[in-house]
Amino acid sequence: MNLMIFILMISINVFANTPISKEMTIRPGDVRWLELELTGNDIKLYCKNNPIKVNKENNKLQAAIVETYFSDLTPFTCEFKERDQVLASILFKVEKRVFLEEKLKVNPKTIKLSPKDQERADKEQVILNKIYASSFSNILFNGSFRGPMNSTVTSVYGTRRVYNGQKKGQHLGIDYRAAVGEKVPTTNSGRVVFSGDLFYTGWTVIIDHGLDIFSVYGHLSKTLVQTGQLVERGELIGLSGNTGRTSGPHLHWGVKVQGHYIDGFVLIDETKKYFNE
Ligand SMILES: [Zn+2]
Repeated sequence: MNLMIFILMISINVFANTPISKEMTIRPGDVRWLELELTGNDIKLYCKNNPIKVNKENNKLQAAIVETYFSDLTPFTCEFKERDQVLASILFKVEKRVFLEEKLKVNPKTIKLSPKDQERADKEQVILNKIYASSFSNILFNGSFRGPMNSTVTSVYGTRRVYNGQKKGQHLGIDYRAAVGEKVPTTNSGRVVFSGDLFYTGWTVIIDHGLDIFSVYGHLSKTLVQTGQLVERGELIGLSGNTGRTSGPHLHWGVKVQGHYIDGFVLIDETKKYFNE
């Protein structure tokens, strides 16, 4: 073999085996959209050593990366691997984020639960956990996410809350001003995985957008879709209301990704960078 070709082959091989290395930032409650071109038949993604669903289109790999609201700001790594070989490694530095505080008055029965209500809430949690564990393994959405309403936002994601001057919590969704009976569209395409009445969020619709990305619409007066139904972005799914634990009529919009409630506004911004409007 020609020496030059031999050297060239070695250098190509060394190059092919050099993993991609990147650094990104994320904040508690954020989602980052990740897109990479990688060749391989069996590429898997792990973040903090947990498997993450990946959408594959030819050599383009797409995934949502999240950091929990309850983050201790420790940096973490996501790795694309094929068997034991690391093809790409992304270090996420976690930046601090300050959240607001607000005081709310709600029905005391939704703070100190009766044994019957507690039993109901617990049962519903089991059902919800099953739903959140069964997301479609590819993208079900079309284009970027959109806010569900054009009205005033009355409570942003992550607000620290004090209910009735005693119970503390955090608001891990976005509240929109809405009277009873206003139209609520879905923020993106997907499959309806829940449509019914829940103790905390009242009449609720949950949509699976694939890749462990779910959107939740709560306190509705009425749901207008059935479980299992496919919906297009912007399609009417319910009417706003005042059901469940509320301090007045409004729409609660939640986004759950890989088991963590994240900031829906960040999901809108991130998907706008990579998808058509
Ligand atoms: Zn809310």
